[in-house]
Amino acid sequence: MTRAYNFSAGPATLPEAVLRQAQADMLEWNGIGASIVEISHRSADFIAVAAQAEADLRKLLWIPDDYAVLFLSGGATTLQALLPLNLATAGQTVDYVVSGHWGKTAIKQARPYVKVQVAADGEPGGFHDIPARESWQLSDDAAYVHITANETIHGLEYRYTPDVGTVPLVADFSSSIASEPLDVSRYGVIYAGAQKNLGPVGISVAIVRRDLLERSGQPRADIFDFRSHAARDSMLNTPPTWNWYMLGLTVKWMLDEGGVEEFARRNAAKSALVYQAIDGSGGFYRNDIAHAVRSRMNIPFFLPDEDLTARFVSESKQAGLLALKGHKAVGGIRASLYNALPVAGAQALADFMRDFQQRNG
Ligand code: PMP
Repeated sequence: MTRAYNFSAGPATLPEAVLRQAQADMLEWNGIGASIVEISHRSADFIAVAAQAEADLRKLLWIPDDYAVLFLSGGATTLQALLPLNLATAGQTVDYVVSGHWGKTAIKQARPYVKVQVAADGEPGGFHDIPARESWQLSDDAAYVHITANETIHGLEYRYTPDVGTVPLVADFSSSIASEPLDVSRYGVIYAGAQKNLGPVGISVAIVRRDLLERSGQPRADIFDFRSHAARDSMLNTPPTWNWYMLGLTVKWMLDEGGVEEFARRNAAKSALVYQAIDGSGGFYRNDIAHAVRSRMNIPFFLPDEDLTARFVSESKQAGLLALKGHKAVGGIRASLYNALPVAGAQALADFMRDFQQRNG
């Protein structure tokens, strides 16, 4: 069976070259007589893999030296709870801008620990636009400002880095990290679960400006403490070694392919193909997101009715286009176009959309 084009929102498609390498390494790796998953995280062999993954990620994302890179188990949701514990004192005010489902999740995880001020909320507008920076009600004394760089379910993406003055900007980049060049120095913390652009689920990355590691935060076990993880190179306990290794392969693949500038080009081309198929359909397909904030990574769209939507999902699957059913919170169709999805995949989807419309429009 050949591999289909996979539009899953996450866990998501991985580069075929990475999967082949992992397959080859699974029984025996690097002449050590065992696979990478079967050796100690304290072994020189694994430490070299971990260090290389970090060095490659730093190169890929141009991460300055004054930022620590943490590789943690637990997903982005776990990090959403660790942020207020590490960056704010108990009950301190933190500002959250909500532009979709994941912004709300971030608030839910923070509420037990801090006073959440919703600085702006896109929900009254149906999450069709990101509240304009001028409308944000920022607190004078916030420990940080939190945004969701790309809303995976609602399909909105910041196309600029908001200026929040001297308060650290904390951003959830789970579904758009490494999709285009990024000025890390504009952020206090960038975090992401790996399972979209960086590798398999089971590991997440937090890029933390080192001065923020000095904040006292709140009473917490050291396993929840960014500073402890940084001091021990993310090996405070047994890290998810296989996932770290797979992340390393994926990052290396991205560097070999030309780095984030190349992926920015591909992602612009892929999303343009799908948006053109929507916008050129005379209303048969509909995407409700304000054009200026349309996501390049996740494109939700709607057909005229439920029957056509169900038929679109089943026929696209038969045509080798996987996982196009929309998230239940939004409905319709959703196409996720992460780095590992080739331009040919987006072209195949756009062609299928036109063909489907001709047959059913
Ligand atoms: N933030 C965003 C933007 C996401 O897309 C997701 C997962 N889809 C999460 C957070 C939660 O990640 P996890 O399931 O790894 O906790």
